Amino acid sequence: MKKLWQKAATAARSDADRPTVLVLGMGDTGVLTAAHLPSRCRVVGVATKPLLVSGQELGCRLSDHEGWREDYLVPLNKLRRLARVEILHARATAVDPVGQTASLQMMDNTTMELAWDYLVIATGVGNGFWREDRLETQAVIEQRLAGQVASVAAADSIAVVGGGPCGTSTAFNLKRAYPNKNVALYMSGPLPLPGYAEVTRHYHRDLLRERGVALVTDRRAVLPDEAGLQRLAGGVLHFQDGSPDVRADLIIWTTGNLRPYTAFLPPDMLDDRGFVVTDSHLNVIGHRRIFAIGDVAATDPLRCSARNWAYRVLCKNIAACLDGRPPSARFIPPVARWGSILGLQPDGLRLHGPAGQGWRLPRWLVRWFLYPVVVRRWIYGGTMGRDS
Ligand SMILES: Cc1cc2nc3c(=O)[nH]c(=O)nc-3n(C[C@H](O)[C@H](O)[C@H](O)COP(=O)(O)OP(=O)(O)OC[C@H]3O[C@@H](n4cnc5c(N)ncnc54)[C@H](O)[C@@H]3O)c2cc1C
Repeated sequence: MKKLWQKAATAARSDADRPTVLVLGMGDTGVLTAAHLPSRCRVVGVATKPLLVSGQELGCRLSDHEGWREDYLVPLNKLRRLARVEILHARATAVDPVGQTASLQMMDNTTMELAWDYLVIATGVGNGFWREDRLETQAVIEQRLAGQVASVAAADSIAVVGGGPCGTSTAFNLKRAYPNKNVALYMSGPLPLPGYAEVTRHYHRDLLRERGVALVTDRRAVLPDEAGLQRLAGGVLHFQDGSPDVRADLIIWTTGNLRPYTAFLPPDMLDDRGFVVTDSHLNVIGHRRIFAIGDVAATDPLRCSARNWAYRVLCKNIAACLDGRPPSARFIPPVARWGSILGLQPDGLRLHGPAGQGWRLPRWLVRWFLYPVVVRRWIYGGTMGRDS
C-alpha cells in the first residue's frame, strides 16, 4: 500500500519537482539508458534522428535490408519504454558542466539552452557512411538508406576494406545475398578479426573462402581522407606496398577509423583521442553529475560499454545519486571480444566466446524468441503498432 502511494505521489509531481536527466545521443545506448532510468526523474533525450538507426549489422543492412529494418530501424515514438521520455529532435553543440546546461541546435536551425541535473553522454562515434551525427528527418534517412541499397545492387564488383568484425560480416553477407557479384575483402594481416581468439579467426577465414569471398591478405590500402572514408562509391584502391591498383564498382571502408562525436564537450573530459574518460561507475572523471556510455566512452581498452549490460550500471548509479548515495554499481568489461560476427544466418546465430568456443542458436529461437521477446519486449518494453 505504501509503495502504491509513493508511486502515485511520484507520478503526480510536476516536472519542476523532478531532477532532469539529459541524455545526449539516442542511438543504441542512449535509447536503452533513457528507457531504463528511474521514473522519479524527468528524462529528456536529444536525438539527431526521429528513429533509432542502429549501427549494428552493416552486412545485413546492405544485404537483407528489409530484415535489418525490423530489428534495427525503429521510430523512437514507437518504443513503449520511451513513452515518458521527452525527445528533442536536436543536436548538442556545447555543454557547460559548471552551469549544468547544454546548448542544442534544433531541427529548424534555432538554438535552445537546457538545464540538467544529471547528464549522460551517448553520442557514439563515426566509423563510416553508416554512422553519423547529422540532424536528419525520417524522409532524408529513408532516401539515404534506399540509395545505399541501390548502390550495392548496381555494383558488379565490391571491395570491402578492413578485416574487423564489420568488414568480415559485410563481405560475407553481401556474397551470400549476391553470389554472382565479385566480393573481395582486403586485410592488412594474414587473418580477419584481429583481437579475437585464433580459432575464431581461422573459422571465419575458412567460412569466407567457402562462401566465395576473395581474400586479399597482408595488404594495406592507402586510406582516403575523412570524406572519402564516409563515402559509399566506386573507385580505385591504391596500396601502401605498391601492389597494382584495383578498381571496384563499390568500395566499402570498414577500417575502424573511429571519430568520437565529442567536439561539443570541454577538453578536460576527453582523452588524447577525444573519447570521454570515465571511471568504472561510468562517471566522467572529475564531473560527479556527468556519465558516459557506449562507443564514445573510454571505459576500457575495447570500449565495450555499448554491450555487456552497461546501461543497467549507469541507471543504477544515477538512481543512487538521486537518493543522495554515491554510485556503487561497477561496469566490469570482458577481457576479450566475444559475440556474434556474421549476424543471423539461414542456419541460426553463431556466437563466439573470448577463448574461441562457439555456440549456434537455431534460427527459430532467434526469430521467435530472442529478438521479439527478449530484445524487443523485455529490453525495449515492446514497440507500439508492431508487436503490441
Ligand atoms: C551484434 C553486434 C553487431 C554490430 N555490428 C556493427 C557493424 O556492423 N558496424 C558497426 O560499425 N558497429 C557494429 N556494432 C557496434 C554497435 O553498432 C555499436 O557498439 C553501438 O551502435 C554503439 O552505440 P552508441 O549508442 O554508443 O552509438 P550510436 O548507436 O552510434 O548512437 C549515437 C547517436 O548519437 C548521435 N549524436 C552524435 N553526436 C551528437 C550530438 N552532438 N548531439 C546529439 N546526438 C548526437 C548520433 O547521430 C547517433 O544517433 C555491432 C555491435 C553488436 C553487439
